[in-house]
Amino acid sequence: MSAPKTLRILVLPGDHVGPEIMAEALKVLDVVEQSRPDLRFQRDTDLVGGCSIDKHGVPVTDVVLEKALDSDAVLFGSIGGPEWAGAQPTPESGLLELRRKLNAFANLRPCEILVPSLVGASPIRPELVAGTKFIVVRENCGGAYFGEKREETDQASDLWVYSRSEVERLAQVSAAVARMLHASIAGGGDKSPKPVVWSADKANVLASGRLWRRATSDIFQREIPDVELRHQLADSMAMLMVKNPRQFNHSAIHTDNTFGDILSDISGGITGTLGVLPSASLAGVPGDGSCKGIYEPVHGSAPDISGKGLANPVAQILSVAMMLRYSFLLEEEAAAIEQAVIKVLDSKDNGGLAIRTGDLGGKARCSEQLGLPIPSSIEPL
Ligand code: ATP
Ligand code: MG
Repeated sequence: MSAPKTLRILVLPGDHVGPEIMAEALKVLDVVEQSRPDLRFQRDTDLVGGCSIDKHGVPVTDVVLEKALDSDAVLFGSIGGPEWAGAQPTPESGLLELRRKLNAFANLRPCEILVPSLVGASPIRPELVAGTKFIVVRENCGGAYFGEKREETDQASDLWVYSRSEVERLAQVSAAVARMLHASIAGGGDKSPKPVVWSADKANVLASGRLWRRATSDIFQREIPDVELRHQLADSMAMLMVKNPRQFNHSAIHTDNTFGDILSDISGGITGTLGVLPSASLAGVPGDGSCKGIYEPVHGSAPDISGKGLANPVAQILSVAMMLRYSFLLEEEAAAIEQAVIKVLDSKDNGGLAIRTGDLGGKARCSEQLGLPIPSSIEPL
């Protein structure tokens, strides 16, 4: 048999609950590796965030940045905590440096109610929110957050600049994500004939918004005819997401840095389940050769519950699924992990409670030996 293909993963557990949830996620990766003798996940673990400040005086070292560049994907935990309050640079700036170094320009945040019985965690009425599933694709390296800044006592400005090429490369990611979502749903029902991308901008008031709309329309017309493009003003998109989130089902929401920041937080708030939301920051288009990415939970380091075994590891485990899907194109394995998570969240333990951590109203601990049978539909995992 030929040598297994090696995929190199830089593992950065970070601070507080980061290492606890990462340990569980890596167990899942072990199972995938066992089921694929043709693949080897070569892992290198290092420090980032507060723990790196303590040891090296900086939140991320040049060595770690080089390792990230050298790896096929970065699995990231969570960083920061009260013990580094006031530290300069901050623990969080380590993640920003990492994103910049990899040029991870596309931030993906899925909005999904994983199991029907979790609708109760949403602030939105169950009949409106049940079955919601879409992904916000936020431009992460440009726009107002990175433009020239001027700050005087009584006046301040941020330059909000986009170039056509920045919009185009994100459009390719949004289209790839929409295709993958479309392919993952069974036919019939509410399945649209084509994958759908919703583009959110403020073309009515911002020049950069008009460029966003033009550049997006042009590239869809020229290079992405298989995906339907719909335009929406970002403010009205925010309202529609809250009023009727399911109308965006199985689509990608293509948007800039500022609006993406807001829309992706809204999409997290819609589910009400911070402990189960993964995210990805991609440095390329999935399926287009190698697409590096940083994969991490949406939630922070949760210092209030760290060291007690109470953290929910699901967001970190689903981040592994995203890594397999987008960086390694292992769709079957990614979907198997998602199905396994759903199975666990739906299972009952001896006390009649679903196997869930405290944030989801259960009593399970971060690390549990469940001894559940492996469902035949996802064997050999
Ligand atoms: P950051 O600024 O780093 O995002 P934050 O203060 O916004 O941090 P989190 O660290 O995400 O917030 O925590 C918010 C709340 O959610 C805390 O009470 C925390 O305990 C809880 N929480 C976050 N992640 C988890 C998790 N994986 N499991 C259980 N509870 C969690
Ligand atoms: Mg926060």
